Amino acid sequence: MEPSLQTVKRLFALSSNCCAFTECDLPIVEESGTVTGKICHIKARKEGGPRYDPNQTNKERHSFDNLILMCARHSQLIDFEHKKYTVDSLHEMKNVRERKGSLEFPPSDACKAELLWKNYKTLYISAGGNVMINSPGAVQANEVVIKSRKKIIKITPPDGCIASDLSKRNYIKHLIDQYNDFASKQPGRTLHFPVIYVNIKKHFGAKWDFIPIHCFDDLSSFLKKKIDNTMLGRINKSKGIPNYSEFDKYCEKYNHIQVDDSEMAEILANEELVQQLRKGSREARGKKGTMGVSPTEIK
Ligand SMILES: [Zn+2]
Repeated sequence: MEPSLQTVKRLFALSSNCCAFTECDLPIVEESGTVTGKICHIKARKEGGPRYDPNQTNKERHSFDNLILMCARHSQLIDFEHKKYTVDSLHEMKNVRERKGSLEFPPSDACKAELLWKNYKTLYISAGGNVMINSPGAVQANEVVIKSRKKIIKITPPDGCIASDLSKRNYIKHLIDQYNDFASKQPGRTLHFPVIYVNIKKHFGAKWDFIPIHCFDDLSSFLKKKIDNTMLGRINKSKGIPNYSEFDKYCEKYNHIQVDDSEMAEILANEELVQQLRKGSREARGKKGTMGVSPTEIK
């Protein structure tokens, strides 16, 4: 749950785009549209947070009365020094600030209020521990920006998706790799490497490893069909050479394989490429191959 746009607009108008902290007059949203301030909760939005009140309903938590606008510095201060900045003292600051404000505001301010609202929905997480996304009780946001000094961030998949089952995940990855390998060997064809990932997402509505596990058979068939339809796939088929191994055979041979960091980095890199492709900001790197090289085969 989050504050409604209407609530944020009201908050923004009455605060006159100003930090509510006593004698601070820093703006919340700069003239340029850059959001430097924050929407803060007087009683914390989450259990364990500063001034958290278990008797508050979720609706109350995100309502106008429980919200206060603060500059970046003061938003930190009131939370770190929450014993000093009590519920009462914050309500007092809020009231003083809002008494001077007016509910009428120009369109440019409405625009700023919307930017502030959108900014709130973009959650910044300093990744130190495990971050769960789109899972019950975990981080819920339209966009999640993870800031970390680590080179590789492991994303723990939610239960019930393909990535939560290692064998199934590895098998699907094997089919994807096989397709990319075959497609790259098509003469005269520039392979846009991540196209398969985009196709899967279009067809199944999610990133390949976040697709529900009950769709495993459908996803396998989808990929097998794609492999069989490549030129090399068709040639192999006519010669009776298998294009891929079946799931049970694959498991027999590769059951011991664990996802390691380099593979996870590859997944993340692929995801990034998909994003780039969608934005059209950069041409994905093409890869040309030659015909007649036999594919990696698993027996
Ligand atoms: Zn301030």
